[in-house]
This record gives sequence, structure tokens and C-alpha cells, in this order.
Amino acid sequence: MKIVVTGGAGFIGANLCKELSRLPEVSHILVLDDLSSGSLANLRDTRVDFVQGSILDRSLLGEVMRGADAAVHLAARPSVAMSVDDPEGSHDVNASGTLRVLEACRAVGAYAVTASSCSVYGDSAENPKHEGLPTRPVSPYGAGKLAAEAYTLSYAASFNMRTLALRFFNVYGPFQPADHAYAAVIPAFIDAALRGDPLRIYGDGLQTRDFTFAETVVSVLIDAVMREVTSDTPVNVAHGVQVSLLELARELGQVMDRPLEVRHAPPRKGDIRDSRASCERLRRLFPDIAPVSLDVGLQRTVSWFEQPMVAGSGRSQ
Ligand code: NAD
Repeated sequence: MKIVVTGGAGFIGANLCKELSRLPEVSHILVLDDLSSGSLANLRDTRVDFVQGSILDRSLLGEVMRGADAAVHLAARPSVAMSVDDPEGSHDVNASGTLRVLEACRAVGAYAVTASSCSVYGDSAENPKHEGLPTRPVSPYGAGKLAAEAYTLSYAASFNMRTLALRFFNVYGPFQPADHAYAAVIPAFIDAALRGDPLRIYGDGLQTRDFTFAETVVSVLIDAVMREVTSDTPVNVAHGVQVSLLELARELGQVMDRPLEVRHAPPRKGDIRDSRASCERLRRLFPDIAPVSLDVGLQRTVSWFEQPMVAGSGRSQ
């Protein structure tokens, strides 16, 4: 079985490729990545064939998809802030890029699973967020992801393709970088704790998130590809666990076996207050997937950050 992973050198992609490399039924894993935010070093423990290039390159996409049974489409400009700075660039990769990947899948009859995001819900106060809620993206990133999932579903309806659009919530785990201004909260907390710095919380810390360990996301992606799971609506990927940032800091302190100092900074504009997923659809489609709990996921993430290779490189990859 040949699987193409776009954006495979990034955080979620690297976790996926590592796991795919262990599966004997997967004979060929091909990663297409332009390395704009990913790194080749993330793929060192895998058996992937790596092609450096953009999903916007039609002929390259055609080549990499030749003979493919499935594509896991993760390549994106994943930052809300970057999308505000450069909306067209974000649209090109996240929306038009997805369309190109779907076209390349269609040409070879491959199954396609694409990564959307909880950002499509915007700042709706309703929780849990179920897939039937109106979508109201408040950033070009969210709008691009909404277009990406709409194209994914429309290709199933128009061309009888087998597709799945997954809305990831806050994913964390190994390979997630901590060294940039918009780092996700868990790597930022772990990085600060390992340096002995206080954990910075924007606002009162009572804002909540639904964190999903990367291993859980990878299990969903692999199960999706192996069974060619489809849905004519998008599917949330999270398990409905609401954790405030203050609780997260306490949990991390327990995992690291010491209390961690928290320092509050003014709230950030545009930050969503509460985000919790409804996971009924996910459980129905993926009944065998049990999520990794927050304490176990944090332990594994901290262990990864403590590896000399990661710590020695300033925890960047
Ligand atoms: P990431 O930045 O680590 O990975 C994205 C990868 O895509 C990178 O390796 C990057 O180099 C590559 N890429 C970017 N533009 C490309 C292009 N034009 N052609 C080829 N490759 C390109 O991000 P991630 O966190 O691993 O996210 C993976 C996917 O999941 C993205 O689609 C993202 O929008 C989505 N997502 C992630 C989260 C999360 O919590 N991490 C939440 C919601 C959605």
C-alpha cells in the first residue's frame, strides 16, 4: 500500500510517518513537504521517501501521487497570526493547495483525508462544539480551512471519491516546536518549565481547551486510511475534555514532580475563551480508538523534550 503524506515533515506529519513506518502493510510512504515550517530531522526515525516541494506544484503532485492508494493531506500554513499578516498566501496553500491535492487524488482514484481545524467554528460561545453548528471563521486561516473541508466533501459528492475531512482541535505531543512567538501552549509551557522560567498565561488562565495527544490523532488517521472511512460531514477530532490553562499548569507540575510558577500577561486579542468538542461522530466512526489521557500525553511529551537531541538544539526542530 502506498500512502502520500503532504506536510509529513511537520509536527503531526512526523508523528504519523513514524507510526506508518511500523506497519508492514504500508509498503511505501511518500512525504511531500516544502519545509516551510517542518524539518527533515523530524523524519529521521522513519522509512519515508521524501520529496521537497509544494502542493501548489501540479506536476510534482501528479508524480508523487502516481500509484498511491491514499493521501493524508496535512500540508498547510498552520498559523492564525500568519494568515492575518498574509491572507492570500494562507489561502493559496490552505484552500487552493487542498483543491490541488484533491485533484491529484482524483486522477489516481486515491482515498483522501484532509486536516481541517476547530478554527472554523470561530468564537462561537456554544460548547460543546458539534459539527452541526454554524461555521463562522474569524481569521483567514479558519476561512481557508473551511474551504479545504468543503472542497474535500464536494469531491466525494461530485466525483464519487472516498474522502474524509477532520477538524483537529488543540493537538500536542513530540515534534511540536516551542521556539517561535506563536508556539502552542503545551510546548511553550514545557519549554519554560525545563528552562526554569515561569509559565506565561495570557489572561486569567480560566480559558479552556480540548487537548488531543498527537498519538490519538495518528490512530484516527491510520484507522481512517486502512478502512477508508468516509463521512459526508466534517468530523471533530477531540474527546470533549475541557481543561483550563491553570489546570494544565498544575497537571504539568505533577508530571514534572514540582510546582511550576505561573506568570499572567494581558489577554491576547482574538483568543477564544472556551473550546470543547462534541465527539459523538468521532466515536461512532472510530469506535476502537481510545484517547491517550492528558497526564500520559504530557509525560510522553516532556520525555521527548528532555531528549538530548531536542534539548541540545534549543528545543527547535
Ligand atoms: P506543521 O506546520 O508542523 O506542519 C505543516 C507542514 O506542511 C510543515 O511540515 C510545512 O513545511 C508543510 N507545508 C506548508 N506549506 C506547504 C506547501 N505549500 N507544500 C508542501 N508542504 C507545505 O503543522 P501541524 O501542527 O503538524 O499541522 C498539520 C495540519 O493539521 C495542518 O493542516 C493544520 O492546519 C492542521 N491542524 C493542526 C492543529 C494543531 O493543533 N497542531 C489544529 C488544527 C488543525
